[in-house]
Amino acid sequence: MNKVLIIGAGGVASVVVAKCCQNADVFHEICIASRTKSKCDNLKERFEHEKIKITTAQLDADKTENVVRLIKEYGPKLVIHVALPYQDLTIMDACLETGVHYLDTANYEPKSVPKFEYKWQWAYKEKFKKAGLTAILGCGFDPGVTGVFSAYALKHYFDEIINIDILDANGGDHGYSFATNFNPEINIREISANGKYWEEGNWVETKPLEIKREFDFDQVGKKDAYLLYHEELESLAKNIPGIKRIRFFMTFSKKYLNHLNVLQNVGMTSIEPIEFRGEMIQPLKFLKAVLPDPSLLGSRTKGKTNIGCIYQGIKNGENISYYLYNICDHETCFKEVGSQAISYTTGVPAMIGAKLLLEGKWIKPGVYNVEEFDPDPFMDELNKQGLPWIENFSPVILE
Ligand code: NDP
Repeated sequence: MNKVLIIGAGGVASVVVAKCCQNADVFHEICIASRTKSKCDNLKERFEHEKIKITTAQLDADKTENVVRLIKEYGPKLVIHVALPYQDLTIMDACLETGVHYLDTANYEPKSVPKFEYKWQWAYKEKFKKAGLTAILGCGFDPGVTGVFSAYALKHYFDEIINIDILDANGGDHGYSFATNFNPEINIREISANGKYWEEGNWVETKPLEIKREFDFDQVGKKDAYLLYHEELESLAKNIPGIKRIRFFMTFSKKYLNHLNVLQNVGMTSIEPIEFRGEMIQPLKFLKAVLPDPSLLGSRTKGKTNIGCIYQGIKNGENISYYLYNICDHETCFKEVGSQAISYTTGVPAMIGAKLLLEGKWIKPGVYNVEEFDPDPFMDELNKQGLPWIENFSPVILE
């Protein structure tokens, strides 16, 4: 009997729940637990069917003891953590205390510093190993599928990968002047931070959005893509042997950037608490409260995403390049699970990682990033579960 505890009830969680319900032969029972219980109940109402039992619970996962209590009550084999990165460590601690496997989609970030790094979670490796438990880190799309793509490229096409460019384009339009496609707080913290990429064994830092490239994305068209620091750069720099350069580019429209600039200039994206009518508030948290809820964008979003990686490297002494990507249609996702493609491209891989773990294909005691597992069963599942991939053996290479 596979029981799984899903923590979080936002955009990504709703896709995880929908896809677990579609795979009820593996996910026999799930419990959805989050800060706002009514959101969990709503997901249960939307997706439960006769082959899967869903329970719900109120949970503040900021405190390990709360998570421990719920795990002991419910008795899951695995926790799928799709709340926020701030809860990674409290949930990992609870998994260790109760002997439960762990999976997430975003690396730990302290609330007070916009600085996501794997060092905090990698430090748990020995503890998970000793406990015979598997922790799978960053199992969304990016990070997540981008790591699986890299392991697949290395396994099947390259003797050595020299350069990786990760390209994330969202050609979707939701009709709002400004909205973020996933949690606004996390999204804006990511974009307004300095850019950074890996080159020749060093991190090269740039100003926020300083480096721009135009790229013609299949089925999305020509877009400006900006260099950002993204968490999989850290793990791929460590896990792809001999890699010389890894960069990450994401597209933003001029309209989006204009709004972001204004919000930044007036201090609305700051995480420094300010006093407002006798209370301390974080401007960015306030901004989140007034922006559209990303989990409700689905019904209005049209267009496609195109996310993938361009690899350059060597096979049998020859220089080769290879581009592996997925195209996902916002409206098709909405028809299938009631969410837009950003939540879909994150929630489907999280379910796949959990499925492989429960099937014993991705069990490895310790704490691992996705590229450290066999990519083949994951790549098969992507084709079956709604995120088919496309290969291009002569891609345009970014300068
Ligand atoms: P949402 O903001 O839509 O959902 C977050 C959920 O977590 C909400 O239900 C929220 O509850 C709940 N939550 C927040 N704090 C707590 C807490 N202390 N205890 C319990 N529950 C809590 O975010 P998304 O669904 O968009 O994103 C989920 C995760 O996925 C994030 O970590 C994000 O960084 C990651 N992500 C990863 C991507 C990838 O490709 N790897 C891409 C996109 C997102 P409430 O409803 O009460 O606010």
